[in-house]
Amino acid sequence: MGQGRQLTGPASRRALGKVERLVVKVGSGLISSPTTGLLPDRIGALAEEIAGLVKDGKEVVLVSSGAIAAGMARLGLSRRPRSIPEKQAAAAVGQCALMWHYEQAFARSGIRVAQVLLTQEDISARPRYLNARNTFLVLLGFGVLPVVNENDTVAVDEIKVGDNDNLAALVAHLIDADLLVLLTDVDGLYTGDPRREPGARPVPTVEVVSEDIQRFVWDAHGGVSVGGMSTKLEAAQKATSSGIPMVIASGREAGTLRRVLRGEPVGTYFVPRGDRLTARKRWIAFAAPPQGRLTVDAGARSALVERGKSLLPSGVVDVEGEFHAGEVVSLSEAAGKEFARGLTNYDAGELRKIRGAKTRALEEILGYKSFDEVIHRDNLVLL
Ligand code: GLU
Repeated sequence: MGQGRQLTGPASRRALGKVERLVVKVGSGLISSPTTGLLPDRIGALAEEIAGLVKDGKEVVLVSSGAIAAGMARLGLSRRPRSIPEKQAAAAVGQCALMWHYEQAFARSGIRVAQVLLTQEDISARPRYLNARNTFLVLLGFGVLPVVNENDTVAVDEIKVGDNDNLAALVAHLIDADLLVLLTDVDGLYTGDPRREPGARPVPTVEVVSEDIQRFVWDAHGGVSVGGMSTKLEAAQKATSSGIPMVIASGREAGTLRRVLRGEPVGTYFVPRGDRLTARKRWIAFAAPPQGRLTVDAGARSALVERGKSLLPSGVVDVEGEFHAGEVVSLSEAAGKEFARGLTNYDAGELRKIRGAKTRALEEILGYKSFDEVIHRDNLVLL
């Protein structure tokens, strides 16, 4: 869809009329209750609304929570299980129920659904990422509606995205979506918890997810929800900083998605920043967790940030972590915050030998020279 760099809130919001491909995330709190499990009427209403968009030619990927909540009800558990195997068992039972409901609900509108379960590893490992991407594109090509969740049954904390807000942002990257919509049980971001603070005001537009905005976060720990506003703001950062706009809106009111797509002022709109990153750069910036950290000097930083250059060994001051060539590393200046990520051409061990060295000395130091640059410009993303 191509969001312009100069568009600010309202103008950028009006451009949502041009959205062709979107990710819609539905929270557990919206489609389930801690006591009775999944709410078929709610699922039915959402399916009908999404089906309307699909019929209008939009490509939609649905990210739905609710597996654990549904499993709890089916297993007769009244509280969210604490132990990992119990949570995983609940997710295994509940995921079937969740898909069964979606299948029935979408079938009423003649739409076929597909289940896609992902873990962090499917997103961080580049070949798996590309496979997942191809699968999504083929499903959309068939006119099928992919329904995504984290693969809770096998994903333990170390390999988990952990919440579906962040997962939905990663899926938006994966499929190169034009928009991410998080449907929840409140109608957007407020300056406080609207359920407890009567003075809390809604925030219609967020230009930048700044520290001031982060101060508005209150986390409701409902019986079935995982995230809250903090994971939603993390998702907003991921989406908007790679040029994808995001909306948080209430999933309880009929017609919300259509109104969002007409650019109407519903919920909270997060303005995309900068140009759309290419799929490859999005993967470098967000999908693959950095395996190490390079400290660079001020000259190297300004060459990268202001002059669009590659990182040379001479600009590297320090090397932290053990990583291999081809992995993602994070870049910062001494005592500074991370400002870029990129794919390194050299291992940590090699970099410790060549840091600070001139390119022409590399061969002498290492006995070979595979690349002039430590990180080539094409493999570097400024954050
Ligand atoms: N994957 C979890 C579930 O389906 C929910 C995670 C979340 O809500 O963020 O129960």
